[in-house]
Amino acid sequence: MGKIKLHWWIMLGMVVGVVTGTLMNQAYIDEARETVLGSGYSEATPQQLQENAQNINEELRRRVIATSVGAAIEGLSRIFMSLLKMIVLPLVFFSLVLGISGMKEAKRLGRIGIKTGAWYVLTSLLAIITGLLVVNLVGPGRGTEIQIPTQAQEAQPPQSFWDVIASMIPENIVEAAATFDMFGVIFFSLLFGIFLLLVEEEVAAGMLSFIKGGAAVMMKMTQFVISLAPVGIAALIANTVATSGPSIFISLFPYVLTVALALAIHFLVTLPLLLRFFTGYPPYRYMRAMSPALWTAFSTASSSGTLGVTMERARQGAGLSNRITSFVLPLGATVNMDGTALYECVTVLFIAQVHSSTHPDFPALSLGSQLFIVFLALTVSIGAAGIPHAGLVMMVIILQAVHLPLEYTSLIWGVDRILDMARTMTNIWSDATGAAVIAHSENEIEESVLFSS
Ligand code: ASP
Repeated sequence: MGKIKLHWWIMLGMVVGVVTGTLMNQAYIDEARETVLGSGYSEATPQQLQENAQNINEELRRRVIATSVGAAIEGLSRIFMSLLKMIVLPLVFFSLVLGISGMKEAKRLGRIGIKTGAWYVLTSLLAIITGLLVVNLVGPGRGTEIQIPTQAQEAQPPQSFWDVIASMIPENIVEAAATFDMFGVIFFSLLFGIFLLLVEEEVAAGMLSFIKGGAAVMMKMTQFVISLAPVGIAALIANTVATSGPSIFISLFPYVLTVALALAIHFLVTLPLLLRFFTGYPPYRYMRAMSPALWTAFSTASSSGTLGVTMERARQGAGLSNRITSFVLPLGATVNMDGTALYECVTVLFIAQVHSSTHPDFPALSLGSQLFIVFLALTVSIGAAGIPHAGLVMMVIILQAVHLPLEYTSLIWGVDRILDMARTMTNIWSDATGAAVIAHSENEIEESVLFSS
């Protein structure tokens, strides 16, 4: 793609999508209304129009697809969605198993390993809870009238707590994979990773190198699919706007603000308070020492891409020991993603709110389902690669698990870059504060370096 960065191409794709979609929407909206409401439709009251909105949308969609541009748009958006779905299963399997096998090192490091694991889980859960509270309080998707062209989807989120627990364990792993039962696959992958750790080293070596290779291949394949995003997004957005009109994007503002608010609370309040509590250091000092890494994360939207700067800053800027940083930071860049976990949780609840506003038969998510989402958000954030948009690719898993149509991601793609920058910055800040807390507890931080920075 030459010298122009992917996110500019994605922006361009969005603009092309919005323009094409708007043109098609305007070209056919009157005809669609007339077909549904009869020729006197201009006298129809807003309420009548509202009641028939679904039918008008369907008619509009039929007309749009009947044109050759419409058919191409529909085809391209389906191809892009299929590619996203295609990669997610092996991606999750390999990256989760690899992530867990990294714990071997943690086992070797004993106490530090336990502290690191505890930090990752604690902060990710706090992030998810913050997201859950903020999205429930703000309710960014409630009452929105977003109609998305979706394939028929049965509305059946798991109901009771025990249903949720029981549905976690697949009877047949091949069937789970074939029916896209993501939870079953995740459950199996977690067990596989744990038992791989327990097998003797020489026996496990072959499997481990297969897993490493598989994870590397899937990472490359994911990057390839993401590189197709500009075209995929143009098609998805054109498809959505053609059916729902350009005003659909207005409904995204409250959502973007909700994610930003929840991330800001975690970044500026929770993590600094934890840092202060465990180390007594003034958080702003440490934040200043780490700021080049934080800004690199913000501008690249890639934890892995930022890792070099994070390690350099933690050592040279804040005086953390090599032993701590070389373990906590690389593992954190791929496993510990508070911002991503929070974002997954807010986004899926936003989509559920939007969906139930337009589909009254879709039951509100029960407490059991919300707990299920918390667990999935945590797992998905562990499995997500530290590259741009990985969190959105993984969103497919959660939507699928709670039976929400995947097509809603077409809306989210439009605003993903900016949210990705903010969540990656939060991911890195969590790794960095964790490294400081652990280094402090092990007495492996040169305070003179931190306080002179
Ligand atoms: N871009 C994020 C990261 O590298 C992952 C995500 O998409 O949430 O940390």
